[in-house]
Amino acid sequence: MQCDFDDHWHEECGVFGIYSDVEAAEKTYLGLYALQHRGQESAGIASTDGKTIALKKGLGLVWSVFADPQAMPRLQGNAAIGHNRYSTRGASDIVNAQPICIESHLGMMALAHNGTITNASELRSSLQARGAIFQTTSDSEIVLHLMAHSREQSFLDILRDALEQLQGAYSFVLLTPERLIAVRDPFGFRPLSLGSTETGHVVASETCAFDIIGAEYIRSVEPGEILEIDAQGMRSYQLSPAGRQSACIFEHIYFARPDSFVFGEKVDKVRRLLGRELAREAPCDADIVIAVPDSGNTAALGYARESGLRYEIGLIRNHYIGRTFIAPHQDKRKLDVRVKLNPVRGVVGGKRVVLIDDSIVRGTTMRQIVQLLRSKGAVEVHVRISSPPIGHPCYYGIDISEKAELIANSRSTEHIREYIGADSLVYISTDAMLRTVEDGSTYCTACFTGNYPAAVPAGFKKIGF
Ligand code: SF4
Repeated sequence: MQCDFDDHWHEECGVFGIYSDVEAAEKTYLGLYALQHRGQESAGIASTDGKTIALKKGLGLVWSVFADPQAMPRLQGNAAIGHNRYSTRGASDIVNAQPICIESHLGMMALAHNGTITNASELRSSLQARGAIFQTTSDSEIVLHLMAHSREQSFLDILRDALEQLQGAYSFVLLTPERLIAVRDPFGFRPLSLGSTETGHVVASETCAFDIIGAEYIRSVEPGEILEIDAQGMRSYQLSPAGRQSACIFEHIYFARPDSFVFGEKVDKVRRLLGRELAREAPCDADIVIAVPDSGNTAALGYARESGLRYEIGLIRNHYIGRTFIAPHQDKRKLDVRVKLNPVRGVVGGKRVVLIDDSIVRGTTMRQIVQLLRSKGAVEVHVRISSPPIGHPCYYGIDISEKAELIANSRSTEHIREYIGADSLVYISTDAMLRTVEDGSTYCTACFTGNYPAAVPAGFKKIGF
């Protein structure tokens, strides 16, 4: 039996690329290891020695995919890309693991993608009508087929021609025997940063992947920017601009690691400010502040600092069960969040507790946590959430939820408070959330407001899941 106690949205992928490094594949492995939180269901590396592309990918965590002692020696060369993938829709099939590698009249190419192509169904049908045969059910493969079918002549024009047909969210790394390409969509939904090593360049979804290999952060890849890195150096090109930049604010709230930079800002700093803003908007007459670990930790520190309340570690998380828990011979009804979290009675007993978390999706986990805290003697539980209510699905690279699964889509905050059994419940406002970043107008807030910055085709259905 498998139980999922993680009531969060999930990022669907992490990408990494490196050019001009004699240990390209080994450093890609380490980069993927640092990006493991962005996808735990498959991992892969493609590398090139300048003539051909070698590929190794598989299902599972990074370490397990590359545990085979033969795997790394096969990944020769001084340039590589890597990918971690998350999927909740059942098709965590090896066929959909990335990088995706194809050979066409353009030669060999490998691609790793973070995002969601919202017009994938139409593009796929049109390519199939023109004879394309797809290896995967993933939307990411479409880019390679669009390139193979382009009538443009130069590599850059072919790439641009393919990218300009895409709608939605994409941060790509693309490898050919001659070059590494990094691209962000014109809205800039998903993050991608550029760094330098002693001998070349590196790109990654988050900068924690630079730290682990000793690379230096240079800057964020700009929305709509194509970076081409080869033996001649690095060149930057620009796609046609989007209406407005729309970086995913949820990267700061939850997805990204607090030790990373994303969109040119420190995640830890933004997350603490979210806690501070929450404390200003929703103060509480209480004794202690605790977090739902690990996702609420940093915002809880900000809340405690601003409110003057004592920060305590009141919930202990079991780090060894992963996202899901396999429980043979158990009645599912007996399994609850206690498998993952346990309150510290000596900390919460007899206390009025402010409980901080980053978001509420279905509310089922929060309801159990509140019950657990009361069972260990908490006399009041006041829930504070460092994102506004999530009332709308995300179509831009996040584990998509149907509206019906989002408790805030159909229930008022008071109804949700009643459901989770808290003494009070307050979410941060959208305005306060946007005050925590340098320029709030450059961020997407669609899952809170329903204002989608990029068109989502009617009847959109994600393919590949
Ligand atoms: Fe991020 Fe929400 Fe926008 Fe999706 S809809 S990109 S989760 S802010």
